Parts: sequence; C-alpha cells; structure tokens
Amino acid sequence: MNHSRRQFLTAVSHAGLCSAGTAFPGTGLAAAQIAGERPEQVAGIEVINPCSRVPVSFIIDDSTCLVNLAHYAMPQFSETWPQRLDYQKPWWTWPREIPDSFVRKFGEWCAERDIRGKYSIVPQPACVGWVDRELPGWSFRQLDASLKLVRELLMPNWDIHPEMATHTRVIDTKTGRPYPDRGPDWMENWSWTTGKSVDQLTDYLMYSLTILKNAGLPCEGITTPGGFAGRVVPELAQATLRSVRDVFNAEIPHYFKFLYTGKESVVPRVEYARGLKSASPECVVSVIGCTGDWFGGWDGDEAGSPDQFITEDLTTGRMVEVIERSEPAIMVCHWPGIYFNGTEHGFNVFKTVVDRIHRRFDHLKWMKLSEISRYWAAKELTEISVSANGFAMDAPFHCPEFTVRLAAQPNQAPRFIQQEAVTPMELVSSPLNLKAGTWCRQDAEIFVCFNLSKGKSRLELV
Ligand SMILES: [Zn+2]
Repeated sequence: MNHSRRQFLTAVSHAGLCSAGTAFPGTGLAAAQIAGERPEQVAGIEVINPCSRVPVSFIIDDSTCLVNLAHYAMPQFSETWPQRLDYQKPWWTWPREIPDSFVRKFGEWCAERDIRGKYSIVPQPACVGWVDRELPGWSFRQLDASLKLVRELLMPNWDIHPEMATHTRVIDTKTGRPYPDRGPDWMENWSWTTGKSVDQLTDYLMYSLTILKNAGLPCEGITTPGGFAGRVVPELAQATLRSVRDVFNAEIPHYFKFLYTGKESVVPRVEYARGLKSASPECVVSVIGCTGDWFGGWDGDEAGSPDQFITEDLTTGRMVEVIERSEPAIMVCHWPGIYFNGTEHGFNVFKTVVDRIHRRFDHLKWMKLSEISRYWAAKELTEISVSANGFAMDAPFHCPEFTVRLAAQPNQAPRFIQQEAVTPMELVSSPLNLKAGTWCRQDAEIFVCFNLSKGKSRLELV
C-alpha cells in the first residue's frame, strides 16, 4: 500500500551508497544497487526469454490469512497522518475479513489457467495477531484451515512473501510487541528504516520470515510494505539475501520493492552477485512490477479498469507495451482491492485483463517471482565461452528451460552435453513449441531450450 511511495525514486538516488563494484546503468533507484560479479559471455550466442515466451506474473500485496488488512490498517494510518484525507475513509463499515471462500474461488480460477505470481502473507497483520499462533477474532481452527488453503491451493503457483511483520506498527523483535513510540518513525511503511544497517534490517526480516516458517509457509523472497527501506535499498537487498538464506536456505532470494510505469526497463535486477566460481555462489534479485494497482486500490475503495492494462480492442495499454518489449510483464495489485468489500471488482478487472492479454498474445508464460528470479540469475551469471564446435557454459545455478539463440548452418543441429552425457534434442516446428529438450530453426538461426544444470555443460553444433 501507499503505492506512490514505491515510486519515490529520489529517495535513494541521492543516498550516495554506490561505492564499489558495478553499478546499474540507467536512472533512478536501481543505480544505488551493486550488481556485483559478472562472468564472461561471448558474442554469437544470446540467452533469450524462457521458451522464447514473455514472462507474465501477478503480484498480490497486503494479503494474509482472514484479516482484511485495509479494515485494520486504516485507523493506524489515519492516526499517523491525521491530515491525509485518503486515510479518513469509513473503514469501520468495511468487512473485517476477506473470507477463505473467496481465496478458494480466486485460487481455483487462477489454477485452472496456470496463472502464477506472488501472494503476501503479512505475518502479524496490523497487530491483530500472529499467523503462526493466534488471530484474535477467529478460532484457531479457522486460522489453521486458512493456512492449509494457502499451502495446498496457492503455494504450487504462488511465491509466499512476508510483507514485513505487521505492515503497520514496528515490532520490537525481542518482545513481539509494537514499540510504545508513535508516528511515522515507528511505522513500517514510513521512516523507521531510515539509517538502519544491514544487520538491523536482517534482524527485522528474520523476525517476519520466522513467523511464516513456523506457520509452514516456505519463502524465497520478501515484499516491502509501502516506503519500507526506501532510503536504505542497498542495505535492504543485502538483508534480504542474508535473512532469506538464513531462515529458509533459499538459493536465490528475491525482493519486490519497485514498480515502474514509464520508459524504464522492468527486467529483474540481479544484485550482489559473488563467489560465482565457489561452492556457494550468491546473489539477490530485485523483481520489478510494471503496472500500478489499477484493479481496486490498496483499500478496496478505488475502482480500476482493465483498459489501462489492455484496451478492449487489444491494441494499447501498459501490458501491451511491456509485452511488446519482451520484458517480464508483472502486474501489481492489493488483496483488499481484488475482494473489493465483497463485490470482487478488482478480481473482475483481473479476469478481463487475463482474457484480453491471451487473446492478443500467444507467447506468454506465467511464472512465479522465484522462477523469474532464477531465470535472470542464470541468464546473467552463467559464464559462456567458445569451445570446440560451439560454446561451453559454467552455471552457478541450475535453471529450467534455459533458452538460447545462435546462428547455425542449414545442415547443423545442436548437441547438448552435460556431465559428459549427451542430452537428446528434439526438433520442433516453431519457437512456440519450445520446451526443455527441444530446438527449432528460424531463418539462419536456431533456438535451443534445455534444463541447465549447475556447473559445466556444452552446446555444440554438429
Ligand atoms: Zn502493501
């Protein structure tokens, strides 16, 4: 929530934190992060999108078990900012719950279409309770059933993220209670994080991740609530890497903090890469959203329209723009806006958008944020050098459906060798039919798709 805050690019660009390593080129916030190591990648072979399809994904913020975060967060926000009219809405008239029947309906609709993305579980939503212990207002049995639904229906297709601890008040991680101090400096969304170190942020992230671990919800990434860590993004990136590895041993931690709706690239940023040749290579990936919440708003009170994503005649809109750039097109919404106090307005907008993008494009690939992160980490961090009859690869991370494009003579076919064993490759008729273990020819080039395993492999033309 507080989406404007996600776009406060100035906050970090003048933080002056880019001191060593390779900084990201371009504008805005990303310039403050450190890319870290990059291996050699020779010309003549290009890693393209997985299966030559454009990744699409759906980021859901402010979801949790049962609690309608908008109902409970609004009074805490309005107390923090008494002058802000957008926090004076009649929250007490809104339902306190977003029921599991709706989670089921939404989750089943998405599962039927293999829709993938990220679903937040705010661990201690607006201080109402703790998803691993007790949610006052609901029975333990209801909480347990709600967690089971998330595990069984959502987790196969959705990454689960904490959106810090409460999304409202800052918690003293030693006691599990909010600090007695009040005001924006003591709210997760606003300035508490300013000046905090990697260690301090790691402690806070670990507190949040551990609640989800106790609740049986494994995570590979985190989402920042509103302006959380807006002025300490390099520290946030490193704290994500540390905490997600410490609590869940995830190989490629990722975070969602930024969305861009203009000309900036929205490809994921692979940051703090190091030890690529060691036994424990590491990096963290910043996954970038490409839309605003044009579904139903953070509070479920701002009716959006599908047209901003893609118009009825399928010709224009933000999703069209980003998909045509071949960059991952990741939509962003808030769970109260999808439910929309029971009218499901945001969900209906989403259904229309899904229908329209699939009528317009036949080369989309729904992916979880963790899948997109792994793909980009492998794409940027796999060393690719020239070898006899082709190319040698040295990958710090395995990667399903790794897809490359290279020039080939009409009489040449690819041969993929991993651990000295040849993997059979099947010729398919077009890039749309690519999956792992296949290749196709297009003019003077071939596309080859394979499951890249960690370590050394070779792609030869024979
Ligand atoms: Zn949020």
